[in-house]
Amino acid sequence: LGAASIAAAEQQQAQAVDWERIRADFPLLTRAVNDKPLIYFDNANTAQKPVQVVAAVDMFYRRHNANVSRAVHALGTEATEAYEGARKTLARFMKVRGEELVLCSGTTFAINLVAYSWALPRLKAGDVILVSRMEHHANIVPWQLVAERTGATVQVAEILPDGSLDLDALDKAMTPRVKLLALAHVSNVLGTVNPVREICRQARKRGIVTVIDGSQAAPHLPLDVPALGCDFYAVTGHKICGPTGTGALWARRELLEAMPPFIGGGEMIKEVSFEKTTFNDIPHKFEAGTPNIAGFVGLGAALDYLDGIGMEAIRAREGELLAHLTEELDRIEGLRIFGTAPDKAAVVSFLIDGAHAHDLATLLDLEGVAVRSGQHCAHPLLQYYGVAATLRASLAFYNTHAEIESFVAALLKARRLLG
Ligand code: PLP
Repeated sequence: LGAASIAAAEQQQAQAVDWERIRADFPLLTRAVNDKPLIYFDNANTAQKPVQVVAAVDMFYRRHNANVSRAVHALGTEATEAYEGARKTLARFMKVRGEELVLCSGTTFAINLVAYSWALPRLKAGDVILVSRMEHHANIVPWQLVAERTGATVQVAEILPDGSLDLDALDKAMTPRVKLLALAHVSNVLGTVNPVREICRQARKRGIVTVIDGSQAAPHLPLDVPALGCDFYAVTGHKICGPTGTGALWARRELLEAMPPFIGGGEMIKEVSFEKTTFNDIPHKFEAGTPNIAGFVGLGAALDYLDGIGMEAIRAREGELLAHLTEELDRIEGLRIFGTAPDKAAVVSFLIDGAHAHDLATLLDLEGVAVRSGQHCAHPLLQYYGVAATLRASLAFYNTHAEIESFVAALLKARRLLG
C-alpha cells in the first residue's frame, strides 16, 4: 500500500473511534488545576493512565502480589505468569520475540545497558560513536561515559534548520571509524520522525551498530522493530500509558548472547559458587534483582488498551490534533515553531517574541494548562537554535480540539499579561 492509502485507511479507523468515550477512561483528565479544567499538554514528558491500568496494578497488589521466579507457591506462579505475560504483550506491541526483550526501568537504563555491556568491552581509542544533534541526554551522556573510558570519541550528526536530520552529512559522517550510531526514532523536542529504516540500512552496510531510542515513537506510531533493521531498540513504559519505572531493550539474540551482564545479583543466575557463577539465559541474564512487577502488569494493561484503540487510529487522531494546533499557532504573530519537518509526531516546541518560556508556562499553569518549558533534556539541540528554553506542547490521542482552542486563548492571554 502507498503512504496515501495507508493514511486514508488510518483516517477511517480514527473516525470510527469514539474519542470522547476514550477520554472518559482517564480519571485525572477530569480534575481542575487552579480552579480551571486541566489541559494536559505535557504528554511527551509522561502520559496519563487509563483506569484499566490503575485497576490492573490495584488488582495485582490485592490478589496476586508475590516475587517472581523464586517461589513454587501459587502466588509466586501467578506473579511470574503476570510478569512474563507483560513481556509477551510488549513483544507483540513491538513485533519482536519475548526472549529478545530485556525488561528494565526505562529507556535510560536500556541505553546504559548497551553502553556498558556492548560498547564498553568493544570500543577502543580511535573508534567513533555517532549521535545526532537532536538526542535526549539519555542518548548522549552514556556514550560520553563510554568514550571517556575507552578513548573513543563522540561525534555529532547535524540537523537542518527545519529539525530534520541532515542525511547527506550523516552519510558522510558514517566513516569506517564509526562503530555505533545512536539515534532517536522521534525527537522529544521537535517531533521529527527520523527515517530510521533507511539510516539503519546504510549503517548496516558499513558494519555500524545502531541503537534506536524509541521513547517518543512508541506512544505515537505503530511499531515494527524488526522492519527497521536496527540492532538495539529502547522504549519506556510511562510514555505509553504505563507506570513509571518500566521499559525495555530489544536486541537480536546473537548480540544479547555475546554481551556480559551489566548488573549482577539474584534472578540473573543459574548457579553461583564462590569460584564461578553461571548466568541465566537471555533475557533474564540482564534482569538482576526484583523487578517492578506491578508496574509491568500495568504496562501490559496499557498496551492491551492501546491495542484496543489501534495504533494506526491513534496516529491519525494525533495527526489531526497536530494539524489543528500548528494552524492555530502559525496565526500568532511573533511565534516561532522549532521543528517543521514534514514527518512529525504531535510535539510542538515554540517561543513567542518578547516572552520568556518559563513566564508563559507559569501563566498557563494558572489557566490550568500543563506544558513543559525549558531545555527538555536536550541542551545541544537548543544550543543549535541559539535559545535558552522553549515551550513544548505535546499531545496525546485523548486530547481534544476544544482543548487546543482553550490553550491558544490562554496563551494569548498570557502574552498580553507579559505585555
Ligand atoms: N529519550 C527520549 C527521546 C525521551 O523523550 C526520554 C524521556 O523524556 C528519554 C529518552 C528518557 O526516558 P526515561 O526517563 O523514561 O528513561
